[in-house]
Amino acid sequence: MEMEEQHPEQGCVKCGACTVVCPVFRVEPRESLTARGKMHLLSLPLARQPSGHFEDIFSRCLLCGACETVCSRHLPITELVIRARSDFSIFYGSHGLQKVAARKALSSSGLLQGLVRAGISLKRINALPAGSGLRIKLGLLEEPRAVPVDWPVPSAPDSKETISYFSGCLARHLQPSVGRAVLRLAHAGDLQVWSPETQCCCGLAASSAGKAEEAGRLAWQNIKFFADGRGPILTSCASCSRHLAAYPELFAGDPEKQEIARAFSNRVVEFSAFFLNHLHDALVLPGGQKKIKTFYHDPCHLRFTSAGREAPRKLIDRIGNVERVEAANGPQCCGQGGLFHVGYPELSRKIFQSCADGALVHSPDLVTTTCSGCLMQWQTGAVENNLPVRIRHLALVLADCLG
Ligand code: SF4
Ligand code: SF4
Repeated sequence: MEMEEQHPEQGCVKCGACTVVCPVFRVEPRESLTARGKMHLLSLPLARQPSGHFEDIFSRCLLCGACETVCSRHLPITELVIRARSDFSIFYGSHGLQKVAARKALSSSGLLQGLVRAGISLKRINALPAGSGLRIKLGLLEEPRAVPVDWPVPSAPDSKETISYFSGCLARHLQPSVGRAVLRLAHAGDLQVWSPETQCCCGLAASSAGKAEEAGRLAWQNIKFFADGRGPILTSCASCSRHLAAYPELFAGDPEKQEIARAFSNRVVEFSAFFLNHLHDALVLPGGQKKIKTFYHDPCHLRFTSAGREAPRKLIDRIGNVERVEAANGPQCCGQGGLFHVGYPELSRKIFQSCADGALVHSPDLVTTTCSGCLMQWQTGAVENNLPVRIRHLALVLADCLG
């Protein structure tokens, strides 16, 4: 029993329930890629001296959490994968250099902002071949507007009525229209908002890579930057919200910091749950009474709780001229997986294809979601596959209803 507490992987009973839900295994049926396979590998001596092959297997995991929800032994599978990664070489797994570079860019606002500017300049030159992966990615960056987003400064951040907005990297740097839409929605609900200019990446990419120190440093910075506020901390990214709520786990060895992190995470509210309670006007999308078929893509960071599945659906169902449709095969992972799509682009594409095939079976006009990673995966996939569907963050869909 004590052995199992220290080595939870040894509690695996090899039932195989995790294999059928694993999006990676579905498109690449190798036993080693399932949670069962990984639990077995972790119990072998080779786990203590991971080879390149071992690192590659553990990199081919989206950390989607689907296996955990069906595991009869309630094994902390994603935590064990992350723990294994913490012992890996710097550039572990496929495209290791690109993954480290992407992580570094995400963890420095200044660097990310500079790269976005460079990317937009490259996009304007239009020199990249049509259909190239980089050209498609650059196409996702929004051109700066004449009037940039006016991030609200704290007028009275310490009031319980003032919302603090954690924008995340997408809404602040890559697609500021999402941040602008959140501000419009908040103002429509007569809410005061402030958004600290100094906030940084939530640290999920660092945490997923097993870089606990880097993840803790980013988390602590955010905790300090939001310490002036007392009201809810709203975020428009499902992945950020899940990670911000988990900040106390990063300070397990420091009770004082953990208490402060807990006070922070107790304030975090996910976008759809928040606006379900704060948008009261009748909602109608421009375009008259014609029903707009809309598919809501569940981010993995929300889809395994009933509240996470229900809030966005209830919000969408309040839009008068929307007909919501569901995927033929139920909610599926889109294959983005943080930096997984950087390491394994082909695998990521196959998982997306399988997800999109089910989602598009009812020919929706619109696909919406609330996760930055899922949004960009869908936007990329729509261009690559010439899909006849619009992809929009739910904040933009709701803001469209405001006229
Ligand atoms: S976390 Fe997701 S991708 Fe990783 S083993 Fe579990 S089901 Fe498969
Ligand atoms: S569901 Fe859990 S116990 Fe069953 S094989 Fe998978 S990891 Fe092992």
